[in-house]
Amino acid sequence: MSQLLRFDELSLSQEVQQAVADMGFETASPIQSEAIPFILEGRDVIGQAQTGTGKTAAFGIPMVETIVPFEKFVQGLILCPTRELAVQVTEEIKKISKHKKGIWVTTVYGGDSIERQIKSLKSGANIVVGTPGRVIDLIERRALKLENVKMVVLDEADEMLDMGFREDIESILEETPAQRQTIFFSATMSKPIMALTSRYQNDPKLVKVVKNEITNANIEQLYYDVKGKAKMEVMTRLMDFYSVKLGLVFCNQKKKVDEVVEELQLRGYTAEGLHGDLRQAQRNNVMSKFRSGVVSILVATDVAARGLDVDDVDAVFNYDIPLDEEYYVHRIGRTGRAGKSGKAFTLVVGAERNRLREIMNYTKVKIDKGVIPSFSDVVGVKKGMFIERVRESIETGDLELFSDVLEGLHHAGYSTEQVVSALVKMNMGITKNEFADENLSGDSERRERGDRFGRDSRDGRRGEGRFDRGGKGEERRGGRYERSERSGRPEDRGPRTDKAGKPYRKDPNMVRMFVNIGFNEKISPANIVGAFAGESGIPGNALGQIDIFDRYSFVDVPKEYANTILNRMEGASIKGKRVNVEIAKPSN
Ligand code: AMP
Repeated sequence: MSQLLRFDELSLSQEVQQAVADMGFETASPIQSEAIPFILEGRDVIGQAQTGTGKTAAFGIPMVETIVPFEKFVQGLILCPTRELAVQVTEEIKKISKHKKGIWVTTVYGGDSIERQIKSLKSGANIVVGTPGRVIDLIERRALKLENVKMVVLDEADEMLDMGFREDIESILEETPAQRQTIFFSATMSKPIMALTSRYQNDPKLVKVVKNEITNANIEQLYYDVKGKAKMEVMTRLMDFYSVKLGLVFCNQKKKVDEVVEELQLRGYTAEGLHGDLRQAQRNNVMSKFRSGVVSILVATDVAARGLDVDDVDAVFNYDIPLDEEYYVHRIGRTGRAGKSGKAFTLVVGAERNRLREIMNYTKVKIDKGVIPSFSDVVGVKKGMFIERVRESIETGDLELFSDVLEGLHHAGYSTEQVVSALVKMNMGITKNEFADENLSGDSERRERGDRFGRDSRDGRRGEGRFDRGGKGEERRGGRYERSERSGRPEDRGPRTDKAGKPYRKDPNMVRMFVNIGFNEKISPANIVGAFAGESGIPGNALGQIDIFDRYSFVDVPKEYANTILNRMEGASIKGKRVNVEIAKPSN
């Protein structure tokens, strides 16, 4: 961690430094510290880094610095495997260029109106972020001109190759000037990647973060697969369930530290934050409060916690999964010290599980999956502790001093039982919130969905919102357009009929495809047509009937396009959600 650079050590413009400060970044992450100087020098770079390491800013920052502002032609091109990633990258670049005038970023991807994208290109975008299929379409329509491109980035290059985009990538690179700067980011350095590198890069510098620290502390390490909105609830349940007296919470950004502190305080925890914006005196104050137990939860960024020397931390919480494997080791090393046992809890949302796998590979320690304590588990633990405290209080005596309080309440008409229950409630600080009866596991939701799809017929013979394509646009034909799921099983939804009451009939020239996205993600037939047509290049009106359910949909596609669609839709996104497209199972 010692060789990490501060952003003011990276020869960046004031505007970009201000922007990263606004984003709450404290120091450059390892991949940023390594890659940014080379990219700024104008070198071709291969960055070996996964999502979650800060790779977007590793190429985004130098790209924003390289683009000549106010020049209204495409100077920077970033290719991403999916629409979802393209949107994320665009957002990050917009944040990085927030204080720089004359930098215009636009995103192009299948599944959305091409006209709108053409319009935004015409208005003078100088950085374009896009998926390969749509970029090719736009080049063919002469809406995207790459002859003045200075820098091309292939983000998640290995993913793009796996998805069959090699030819598209090559055609795109051929459209750009030979003297361009070419940057590859890839989680793996496979043979196909190296082949692409030797063909399209000029003396590239391989940048990867060398790791050298492994600590094997006596710490129980668990991870929890959670829904994003439930992170705070799960963390506080763990704090309560394990009766954490001194807990250290790690976040990746200063801003997040402040948010988490505020939320913890609102929930009644004595929490304070520690990050680089604090003056030394404030830092010392917070640390000594934590050391003495006046503050029981300290929320910190990685850098701020470096100097922390407290032996009694009983649990470390990775509220955000760390940007670097080594950070993980440093973080959890804050507990289980001085011969004591400790716990390290990592909250994982969705695709962050890949980062967790990397961490396990790096530390060579298996991090087990923890079970999220239920609301009643937590209440149970708190009741037990409360009973213990009451018993202690009774044993220590002096109760007669307060007997008149109970008498007063009796006079006001309250029974002893009512008074005691109210006191218990006040003391335990438990209130049922919206999460109390909810399943908070992100994983269980996925598994439930997966099983259901695995077991149930994928033929979509019984549909709820059905759309027939053809003629002029889409027409909703589903007789019963119901949003609520009754059992979730297509079979249980009653016979599928169209508006005229006719049953669904399979068209022998069509193949029925299954897509794991539906009304729950607010998709419409237009989104499906846009994605299928945009990613695969087939004409939108070639698609047949579309049936949308709450969690999934069925789409009829012409037989001759089935393979193209399956290939192109692999890893594609619809409305920002990565989808899985398969041939629907035949009906029985
Ligand atoms: P990425 O690997 O680009 O997907 O980044 C993962 C997350 O880390 C994003 O939310 C970034 O905004 C954030 N991030 C990137 N660089 C830093 C940094 N130097 N310090 C803190 N957070 C960062």
